[in-house]
Amino acid sequence: MVYRGREGKGLLPASRFVISLMAWYRRERRDLPWRETHDPYRILVSEIMLQQTRAQTVIPYYERFVERFPNVNTLAKAREAEVLTYWSGLGYYSRARNLQKAARAIVAARQFPSDYDGIRELPGVGPYTAAAVASIAFNAPHAVVDGNVLRVIARLNDDGADIASPKTRARFQQMADAWLDHRDPGHFNQAMMELGATVCLPRTPRCAQCPVAQFCEGRKAGRQHELPVKQSKTAPRHIQIQVAIIEKKGAVLLRQRPAGASLMAGFWELPAPDDLPSWHESETLGSFRHTITHHNYTVTVLSGTISRVPPGFRWRRNGLDRIPLTTVARKALRLITSD
Ligand code: SF4
Repeated sequence: MVYRGREGKGLLPASRFVISLMAWYRRERRDLPWRETHDPYRILVSEIMLQQTRAQTVIPYYERFVERFPNVNTLAKAREAEVLTYWSGLGYYSRARNLQKAARAIVAARQFPSDYDGIRELPGVGPYTAAAVASIAFNAPHAVVDGNVLRVIARLNDDGADIASPKTRARFQQMADAWLDHRDPGHFNQAMMELGATVCLPRTPRCAQCPVAQFCEGRKAGRQHELPVKQSKTAPRHIQIQVAIIEKKGAVLLRQRPAGASLMAGFWELPAPDDLPSWHESETLGSFRHTITHHNYTVTVLSGTISRVPPGFRWRRNGLDRIPLTTVARKALRLITSD
């Protein structure tokens, strides 16, 4: 795409690009629950949930969360354990803790910040989230550049620079800022993200259905599948772990992670067989995969018995759906609770 910004006479390619993109977005956009509101709190909740998580996965979590915590006051007053329970399964739990801190900061300030800088100061809010909330809730002219938008920009420009590099990100941010539709920045940002999420897909871009294909230099060069370029610094690690499900009269043996733990503090987890000196294995219940950043875990779930409960573990009988469980524990327990 020829980038020429907003100045000049007539319809420049960048302007025609915006018209094509926005017309497509109005026609084809998915109905997502957070698109029905201008409430900045709900938009903040959705944007925090959407970090690292796909929209279809987020929908049920978002709906349950805003039903239980419909505004900043209810979230600010809630117990942290309950907030984590409603977040349980979405992962990256520091997001939930920061969201509650943000709600408390907003309650203390008696108003939701209405500009980019004020939103950016909230706990857990980075440049991307601040731009998304400021533009969608307050129509502020800040372009959002997330992973989807980086991919779209790289392909539109046939740009093979490494998108992991801060220099490339800053340059792509400048381009997105220049393309931004200042009459409707919120919808422009959502249109760019929607294009990346539904058409300009990572492995199989659907160029035949793309509303901006005529502007796409990557497609013209036949390089769209090779873009964007991202040089990974860390190769994924494959790790095998085991967890044990021990049942006694309908209760399950669990341990709560310490409040000061660096990961999943306060969450309940299943023991590993190595944690149990009197462990006696009965059978293998199944296995599943679990990924955290660059670690790919294969989790084998075993059932068995013990003759004594080691320190730190407790039998928990009721309300497992009302306590924050680690994702590994939740997935493992599905093996004994699903039909
Ligand atoms: Fe992406 Fe293809 Fe559209 Fe280019 S033409 S923006 S590669 S979907």
